Amino acid sequence: MSEQNLVSRELFDEVMVPNYNPSSVIPVKGEGSRVWDQEGREFIDFAGGIAVNCLGHCHPNLVKALKEQGEKIWHLSNVMTNEPALRLAKKITDATFAENVYFANSGAEANEAALKLARRWALDNFGEHKNKIIAFHKGFHGRTFFTVTVGGQAAYSDGFGPKPGAVAHAEFNNLESLADLIDDDTCAVMMEPIQGEGGVISPTSEFMAGIRELCDKHNALLIFDEVQSGVGRTGHLYAYQALGVTPDILTTAKALGGGFPIGAMLSTKEISKHLKIGTHGSTYGGNPLACAVAEAAFDTVNTKEVLDGVKHREQLFRDGLSAINEKYNVFSEVRGEGLLLGAVLNEQYQGRARDFLVASIDNGLMSLVAGTNVVRFTPSLVIPEADIQEGLARFEKAVAQVVAG
Ligand SMILES: *Cc1c(COP(=O)(O)O)cnc(C)c1O
Repeated sequence: MSEQNLVSRELFDEVMVPNYNPSSVIPVKGEGSRVWDQEGREFIDFAGGIAVNCLGHCHPNLVKALKEQGEKIWHLSNVMTNEPALRLAKKITDATFAENVYFANSGAEANEAALKLARRWALDNFGEHKNKIIAFHKGFHGRTFFTVTVGGQAAYSDGFGPKPGAVAHAEFNNLESLADLIDDDTCAVMMEPIQGEGGVISPTSEFMAGIRELCDKHNALLIFDEVQSGVGRTGHLYAYQALGVTPDILTTAKALGGGFPIGAMLSTKEISKHLKIGTHGSTYGGNPLACAVAEAAFDTVNTKEVLDGVKHREQLFRDGLSAINEKYNVFSEVRGEGLLLGAVLNEQYQGRARDFLVASIDNGLMSLVAGTNVVRFTPSLVIPEADIQEGLARFEKAVAQVVAG
């Protein structure tokens, strides 16, 4: 047996916990929006590691930051601060509503910090009774026990014993359902400004304005989970900046590190002061290596050129997908914003999103699903136009394959 065969998909079933069911394709190298597997087969990447690889694979700015910091210092613990973390926090606060940053290692951890901060803020200011957290059905906030409980999908939260309490769920884009639940005992409302995993669903502007009003009326914090929508994904640095509504707490991860694990929770001084010394922490959170790479990603993404380029690429995707749909009639609509796009399957193809993903892989394209009825695309924000066209051509073949049965 060659060494290559030794690390095959079969080995996964032997040595890995069976919580994932990965493709038989094992990628070994990536450059920009192209990826190669063990056999040297080439793929166009429309998935971006699930909205993580915002600058594609091995972007020179990120490789440079990783190598340079890798030869300086990797880890210190929070007993000491470090230059990359301070620089990154300064840049994030300069570019957003936030005044303070807490660094974590993932989206779920950033959200865990946000929820704990909201509870502590409410306890300090109003007392124990103010502890209710309201989130939305189909929302996704990560896989820790607190965040799956707040996320609105029973498949992720049930079967693990007693859940953290005082969590309720309203309907997304249904202000009345939130109005029915919210009261003066509510400490926070948590939402994704665009629901990603739940099917790429944008909020209406009335819904957004109404949520902010209800939170203000009941002294509840508004938490935006921008783990998927943040760092340029929608063509704005953060999605909230185009929604006319500013949250009290914002979480960011995924694209923040451009492929290196990091997450962050952002807030104002008035709120964040309630996470006093010792109340929360993380061994790796804010380590210099992650922060150095994230700083390079942030500098590269937060330019007019890249953000405007996202809007331009969105149009190329929309044009290409509607041309495919005119031929094959498989989608009812393409929704989302920027390069967080969802092609929604029509009546005839309900429940078959995964078939499109599998057919895409057959045709040399990496795509994603969001639930069972939406094919999702979250490519690199700087994907070359030629790769978009080639990827769409491969996607058309995949669609033809599914339609042909
Ligand atoms: C991916 C995601 C998370 C979880 O992030 P992890 O890094 O996997 O913990 C949380 N919220 C949203 C909106 C996400 O898309």
